[in-house]
Amino acid sequence: VLRHRPYERTPKAAMDRAAAALGRAFGPSKLLVGVEACAAFGGDESLQPDVPPDAVVLAEDEDDVARALAVAAEGEVPITPRGAGTGKTGGAIPVAGGIVLATTGLRSIVEIDREELVAVVEPGVVLADFQAAVEAEGLFYGPDPNSLATCAIGGNLAENAGGPRAFKYGVTRDWVRGLEVVTIGGARLSTGRRTAKGVTGYDVTALLVGSEGTLAVTTRATLRLVAKPPAVATLLALFDDVRGAGRAVSAIIAAGLVPRCLELFDAPTLAAVRAKGVAVDARAGAMLLLEVDGDPVGCELAMERTGAVCADAGAIDVLAAQDAAQRDRLWDARRMLSHATRAMARFKVSEDVVVPRAKIPDLLADVDRIAEATRVRMLTYGHAGDGNLHVNLLWDDADDEPRVADALERLFRAVIALRGTLSGEHGIGLAKAEFLPLEQSDELIDLQRRLKAVFDPKGLLNPHKIFPRRTHGPC
Ligand SMILES: Cc1cc2nc3c(=O)[nH]c(=O)nc-3n(C[C@H](O)[C@H](O)[C@H](O)COP(=O)(O)OP(=O)(O)OC[C@H]3O[C@@H](n4cnc5c(N)ncnc54)[C@H](O)[C@@H]3O)c2cc1C
Repeated sequence: VLRHRPYERTPKAAMDRAAAALGRAFGPSKLLVGVEACAAFGGDESLQPDVPPDAVVLAEDEDDVARALAVAAEGEVPITPRGAGTGKTGGAIPVAGGIVLATTGLRSIVEIDREELVAVVEPGVVLADFQAAVEAEGLFYGPDPNSLATCAIGGNLAENAGGPRAFKYGVTRDWVRGLEVVTIGGARLSTGRRTAKGVTGYDVTALLVGSEGTLAVTTRATLRLVAKPPAVATLLALFDDVRGAGRAVSAIIAAGLVPRCLELFDAPTLAAVRAKGVAVDARAGAMLLLEVDGDPVGCELAMERTGAVCADAGAIDVLAAQDAAQRDRLWDARRMLSHATRAMARFKVSEDVVVPRAKIPDLLADVDRIAEATRVRMLTYGHAGDGNLHVNLLWDDADDEPRVADALERLFRAVIALRGTLSGEHGIGLAKAEFLPLEQSDELIDLQRRLKAVFDPKGLLNPHKIFPRRTHGPC
């Protein structure tokens, strides 16, 4: 369950024909052919083994996307959309070979409309670049996955990415007004709207966001913006242990406070932060990183109230960042966690489970129990405000993998027992496809498979993702 078993590769004869058709459709600057030339397009940031595609189309506009999809459809070869390759569940891995359709070359910020508070962007725009452009106009786009310096908007849309600010500002889907997509059947669809309100027809935009590149390829998105909050303040609250920090999260929410970020670090995570040279009080066995925003007076007040609630909940210390440089240092420490924890062992999987917020202490207790029972090193951090925690499993020896797989399955079962969900932001991809039936009924999975078949009857667009493996028929 930790790594996918190999899938059957696209037959060579079909791929040779498709490669010839791609050669006719695209010049050499937009086409790579052959496993060696395409090797860099076979993996992502998950534990899933790389699978190099047979060809890569480096699309630069919607016509390129449509042409690549048409070649795949005519030749009946698989095609996998790809953004920046930072996904954590193997979504961009072309498991059956075939074509990778890279959309990072569609990288224009087409428009930022200050009056309507919308932006129109192409999928290859790097999120941090988009945020910088929007903020330069005094505006704000909420979603902030920690990979923002490298991930692309197309990948964010496909995964419905979220980040620390989701507690107040929601996830990607909450910011999408409309999409332009191309289906493998060749339809160019404009879904949704530009206006603030609109309820016409089914909400196809909402269906496409989070569909992990399995239904259509995005070529443009109309995104909602708001005014940039004039003031932001960052707080650190230190606790003896993680259960104290978990109780403080519940107390903050119960007090009606809505910090824009509410991030939890457990003791092993703090050790990773300290190992990176960030000084954290030695007494602390857990930490909350909190951020509030708004107008300067409201922000100051929210900071004081949040600090007071943390103190009442048993914080051993509450510290406020004094300036932007200190804030940046704290966030740098948070953003490097994924890489820092990865360096702690030879292998790591980072889960993104969600439980009802009041159940965070139960989940943390379950994690301790599972770690002890399976003797797998586990550490937890993440978006506690949303009940969305990254439970990381670390190991050094490949022979330990049966125990890690056991721990993972126990974790997922515990999450479902707490009425949680398997993924808050990374998606299901390949990594969690076999676990989907733990959360969803056969009927619901079957309905989704049939929906996929409406968009993609032959199962050629990003095959073998989301749904559990089966031995026959299109995925
Ligand atoms: C250090 C680190 C921190 C991270 N932190 C977070 C976090 O806080 N929150 C979070 O949500 N995620 C996080 N992630 C995961 C990852 O960055 C997100 O899932 C991101 O949205 C993926 O974007 P990408 O451009 O890299 O997509 P890719 O990995 O290239 O692709 C992801 C999926 O999107 C599909 N896709 C890509 N482009 C298109 C397109 N144009 N049309 C249709 N489908 C497309 C692919 O087929 C694939 O299924 C983190 C990853 C890393 C490495």
